[in-house]
Amino acid sequence: MSDPLYIRRGFGLRKEIAPQVDAEYGSAMLARIRANGNRLEEGGVTVVVADALGFCYGVDRAVDLAYETRARFPDRRLFLTAQIIHNPHVNRRLEAMGIRFLEGDYGRLVPEDVVIIPAFGVPEETLARLRATGCLLVDTTCGSVINVWRNVERNARDGFTTVIHGKLHHEETRATSSRAIHGGEGHFVVVRDLGEAEVVAAAIRGDLEADAFMAVLGPASSPGFDPRLHLARIGLANQTTMLASQSLEIAHCLEGAMAARYGGAVDGRFRSFDTICGATEERQQAVLKLVEEERPDLMVVVGGFNSSNTGHLAEIATGHCTTLHIEEAADLLAADRIRHKPPGAPPVEAHQRWLPELPAIVGLTAGASTPGVKIGEVVARLFELARGNEA
Ligand code: SF4
Repeated sequence: MSDPLYIRRGFGLRKEIAPQVDAEYGSAMLARIRANGNRLEEGGVTVVVADALGFCYGVDRAVDLAYETRARFPDRRLFLTAQIIHNPHVNRRLEAMGIRFLEGDYGRLVPEDVVIIPAFGVPEETLARLRATGCLLVDTTCGSVINVWRNVERNARDGFTTVIHGKLHHEETRATSSRAIHGGEGHFVVVRDLGEAEVVAAAIRGDLEADAFMAVLGPASSPGFDPRLHLARIGLANQTTMLASQSLEIAHCLEGAMAARYGGAVDGRFRSFDTICGATEERQQAVLKLVEEERPDLMVVVGGFNSSNTGHLAEIATGHCTTLHIEEAADLLAADRIRHKPPGAPPVEAHQRWLPELPAIVGLTAGASTPGVKIGEVVARLFELARGNEA
């Protein structure tokens, strides 16, 4: 039976909100580049954009739902449980529309309020708390994230511990972890990278004592987790925005450990579902194609500094050419001054010439939460700096 206090499909107002969404997030500059075969030259800089970049289907849907909700309830208090996606521009826009962020403060809600659940989803216990408030819930959780939840819930039902390749404190991984427990039936451990997967592998093979395992991965494991009991059958899942190549390495590492422990018979003991979403894979493949085929003098990656998928695009490009991860055009302070985020480090303001000698090819991509308007502004700023007209 449908729940009148739980909305997933919107309010049938997409046509009404489309002009506003297009005006606020679309980009004439990006459309021009697309129409010109994904490249444009000005002032000695040829900007080449990746075949796939910017807003993904899940983000498109989440943003549309938020705008539909505002249009449907112009007079009610609207809240988001947290950032709808990891892009400061989009979150600022929603705040300007009067949508507030709860950040765990559920006590301030009254039944007349409307709460929007972000594209990453929320943990099961958060959903239960929200339902208890009697508020109307508008759930924008991406279908690809829900697909991961189905897999980890099945693991729990079948007695498999889920090994999640993800970032422990990322909203999506926290939501997925809660589904891997599935009402106390299952267990999970979160591994961030191959190094942490090796710790799990060593415990599976019997090469690592339980205490040593817990010292490293105890905080990333489900309550009551015991590596001596809960690694006999494992299923691998990924946060949808991880690096696909790294997830594959982790799968091989863990499958190898299971084979070593159980004499090659991993059937019935090991499962691996590639739950990296199609949009993430497309953007990762597109940036790789761009750096390999165009060999740019510089690669610029645009997206929130806290955006997991944007960070991975920067990581891929860094292996091939000089790469700068910026949030927006304003970070291109001058041809010799830039605010950017080096891989694995906090953002910095660097005082050095980053704009290549002209003529130059500058590759450009953007994370799945970066709107076209922000991509277009970066291109315009690059051209401006190339012409020597920087503000
Ligand atoms: S990155 Fe993938 S999982 Fe995340 S919102 Fe976009 S399509 Fe959905």
